[in-house]
Amino acid sequence: MEELNQWSLYSWKNKEIVQNVVYKDKKKYESILEKLDVLPPLVHQDEIEKLKEQLREVAENKRFLLQGGDCAELFEYCNKDNIENQLKILLKQSLILIWGGRTSVVRIGRMAGQYAKPRSSPVEIIDGKEYPSYRGDIVNGYEIDDREPNPDRLLQSYFHSSATLNYIRSLINTGFADLHKAEHWNLSHIRNQTLREEHEAIIDQLRTSLEFLNIVGIGKNSNPSLETIDFFVSHEGLLLDYESQFTKKVVDPTDSNKTEKWYNLGTHFLWIGDRTRQLNGAHVEYFRGIQNPIGIKVGPSMKPQELIDLLDIVDPNFELGKVTLITRYGFDKIEQYLPDHIKAVQSTKHRIIWCCDPMHGNTVKSSIGLKTRNFDNILGELKKAFEIHKSLNSNLNGVHFEMTGEKGVTECIGGSMQITEKDLKKNYQTNCDPRLNYEQSLDISLLIAQLLRA
Ligand code: PEP
Ligand code: MN
Repeated sequence: MEELNQWSLYSWKNKEIVQNVVYKDKKKYESILEKLDVLPPLVHQDEIEKLKEQLREVAENKRFLLQGGDCAELFEYCNKDNIENQLKILLKQSLILIWGGRTSVVRIGRMAGQYAKPRSSPVEIIDGKEYPSYRGDIVNGYEIDDREPNPDRLLQSYFHSSATLNYIRSLINTGFADLHKAEHWNLSHIRNQTLREEHEAIIDQLRTSLEFLNIVGIGKNSNPSLETIDFFVSHEGLLLDYESQFTKKVVDPTDSNKTEKWYNLGTHFLWIGDRTRQLNGAHVEYFRGIQNPIGIKVGPSMKPQELIDLLDIVDPNFELGKVTLITRYGFDKIEQYLPDHIKAVQSTKHRIIWCCDPMHGNTVKSSIGLKTRNFDNILGELKKAFEIHKSLNSNLNGVHFEMTGEKGVTECIGGSMQITEKDLKKNYQTNCDPRLNYEQSLDISLLIAQLLRA
């Protein structure tokens, strides 16, 4: 492989920038970047290092990773109910996974900054007319008369991210996440009686365990981690100028020499999308210079050797848990691709986290034209991921979902509510990819808990 040049904050500008956004008002764009540069960071490097410590345990198969949230976070989702609902479902899912895997869970939301979307086409045809595609609230609006990239939105993204993160922190600091509160979880949406009874039994056992801990007094005093939790945020690192404004050289708290290193202080965890992971591209160049733990989406087009080359670039020091490979093939393709990817990584010294995103390879257009995903295919890809890892002496260390904490959303078909194609229109909300609704998110974690126990 060719020698890599020296990394610098803007060395990515010498590479091809895939999915680049061009702003008409360059002066305004520059002035907004300057403003972002001086605004306070959203997270502290100590938190990033804390997450890295936990991810090292994930890589060693001592913990399980749960990452989830909206495909495209919207500015309008930055409100009390939505943030509470999203946090609540992620916490419930993680409790179920803790019960299932008998291991603690690292929780990372696709939240507080998941505003930029890569698109398969820069344009969209609506009623025979061509419009620029919607590229996420950080770039343009979903309404067709608001599709021109607007630099003001970069600043709005920062403020919406900080308001979201601020409320998440308040909730967590004031007991919202108290795992002792064994509240009633309504499973009445499950139409199949046998499944409902199975799942109610899991919840009952979970509740009994929590009550037991309460009665014997374990937790409250002796184990503070049961009272409050760690919650981290993440987003796709797509707009590199935006990300660069948050990227600061600060003291690495784990380094006894107090060396200053580059951290992206705009989020805890960033990932490279499947469309922007070119070995010689700008995104990989930016990512290789930051200390944050990073994700890489891995789809069918990734060649095994390319995966090795990519890991060599972003993880030259073979750091345990630095990289999370988020695989997303589709339930009908995973058997064809995952084994070779596992073997490729096994042939190296990279000690990565394997995470299954069973959403992005399973997107289809429904007969009524709306994008959807079938719950059975999502579950199918997950099941196969567990099996394939096991058969190759590897471990599936985590899961990655697109989901909403809102009840009764109808974007994915199937699940225990038995949503059909005909139901999709009832409560289809997403501007981007279809998400599991609250009920389906519970369903899937109960099913994973069973897989973890198997
Ligand atoms: C996403 O996570 O929303 C996404 C665009 O994924 P991918 O890069 O895997 O297609
Ligand atoms: Mn998506």
